[in-house]
Amino acid sequence: MTSTPFETTALDASAIPFDNSYARLPPQFFARQAPSAATAPRLIKLNEALAEELGLNVEALKREGAAIFSGNLVPAGADPLAMAYAGHQFGQFVPQLGDGRAILLGEVVDRNGKRRDIQLKGAGQTPFSRRGDGRAALGPVLREYIVSEAMHALGVPTTRALAAVTTGQPVYREDILPGAVFTRVAASHIRVGTFQFFAARGDDEGIRTLADYVIDRHYPELKGSDAPYLALYRAVSERQAALIARWLQIGFIHGVMNTDNMTISGETIDFGPCAFVDTYHAGTVFSSIDQNGRYAYANQPAIGQWNLARLGETLLPLIDADVDRAVEAANAVIKDYGERFQHHWLAGMRRKIGLANTEEDDLDLVQALLALMQDGEADFTLAFRRLSGTMEAGMDEEGFAASFKDPAALSPWLDRWRERLSRDPQATLQRKAAMRRVNPAFIPRNHRIEQAIQAAVEDDDFSLFEALLRVLAKPYEDQPEFEPYTRPPQPAERVLQTFCGT
Ligand code: AMP
Ligand code: MG
Repeated sequence: MTSTPFETTALDASAIPFDNSYARLPPQFFARQAPSAATAPRLIKLNEALAEELGLNVEALKREGAAIFSGNLVPAGADPLAMAYAGHQFGQFVPQLGDGRAILLGEVVDRNGKRRDIQLKGAGQTPFSRRGDGRAALGPVLREYIVSEAMHALGVPTTRALAAVTTGQPVYREDILPGAVFTRVAASHIRVGTFQFFAARGDDEGIRTLADYVIDRHYPELKGSDAPYLALYRAVSERQAALIARWLQIGFIHGVMNTDNMTISGETIDFGPCAFVDTYHAGTVFSSIDQNGRYAYANQPAIGQWNLARLGETLLPLIDADVDRAVEAANAVIKDYGERFQHHWLAGMRRKIGLANTEEDDLDLVQALLALMQDGEADFTLAFRRLSGTMEAGMDEEGFAASFKDPAALSPWLDRWRERLSRDPQATLQRKAAMRRVNPAFIPRNHRIEQAIQAAVEDDDFSLFEALLRVLAKPYEDQPEFEPYTRPPQPAERVLQTFCGT
């Protein structure tokens, strides 16, 4: 289906009940920008459950989705714009980045009363495109669709996938690739880099306006507090500490934790060269552009802290008129982040090994297991899932130990663990259920994503993409019919590097 650009119809007026607030902020916050037309848009996927949750008209979107989600038809009530932001990319500050290939159509208030952004990614150039074409290739669009929905099903705060369309136009990267547009839903797209944009310009009023907007939208409980901006800083740090702990617990590597890719809402955003660890190693890096391992698996908590320090710098003028006092207060937050991260991480790791109460030695017990996994080249996901399996009748530990290169090396740890479990209050069946709720059977394994992308790009075959979405929607259930999806890659299937969407 093709449509001429920017037409609006009576029908789509009800498709998306927009209620835009970002567009009412001062003009330096964004550039108004309509999407560019696509020649032959085709709706690949509509997330109907999410559309329902957002209060959208699903029937209208099924009919008009190709036109709307390609950017050809700007629905009534949309106020398309590209957001301004800056950011540290691999430690280097870039004072102006902004949405170079993303256009915010507008916001809706969902069925739970939460305001959500609807954004097109890949719908053409904006004033922030620099030398980029403003377009996206099908592969990265499918990757973001799969991984963001998998993260959601795993229970990790994340932006969501509402739709994927192909444009019918080629995009030129190293190869010529089919073009696509991804429709992203987010609590908001405000980043650490959004604050940095105003700080870099010495625009204290802009920072205050942004901070007030963020408190209203994401942290309303802080309104009227004595020191709202310091409280905001603390609240953002707390959400990031909790988020990054969740990433580590499921083996997720974001890949590009630049400050422009860290949200203020606490959602995971920008699934570029992200990947999940298969064989566990704390130093794992996948991203082709992360030469020095800055964003390696186990570096993520420290990078989170580094990014939050950059956020703190932008908030100093709001925290206290006295610079020394402002710095001291912000430093306390940064220091607490380390403890909050450690708290969230250990709490989650305790649950992964089946503990409901706490003992001093638990950290050591967890670290000993991770060290064994690393030495024993165990598959992170499979090993924890099999550890849950040892709670089955018969208490079979062989399956678990078989995940390790040298199963016999596990014995002392298993003895120690059993002994620790004897002092934990949970009944065995209760523990088994609890462990299965935090140790997924299914994660979006890189080789499966690559296979799904390859079939779509080369053969216009979306069946693997669909199958993967189905499996990953229930990551904590056994789904015996999908057992092959639990398996790590064969040596030949292993994905060693992932690439950005650009
Ligand atoms: P990302 O790597 O997706 O976080 O993007 C970093 C910056 O590059 C953002 O400002 C993007 O908007 C911009 N960008 C990435 N790809 C493109 C593209 N194809 N065209 C224009 N801008 C882009
Ligand atoms: Mg980004």
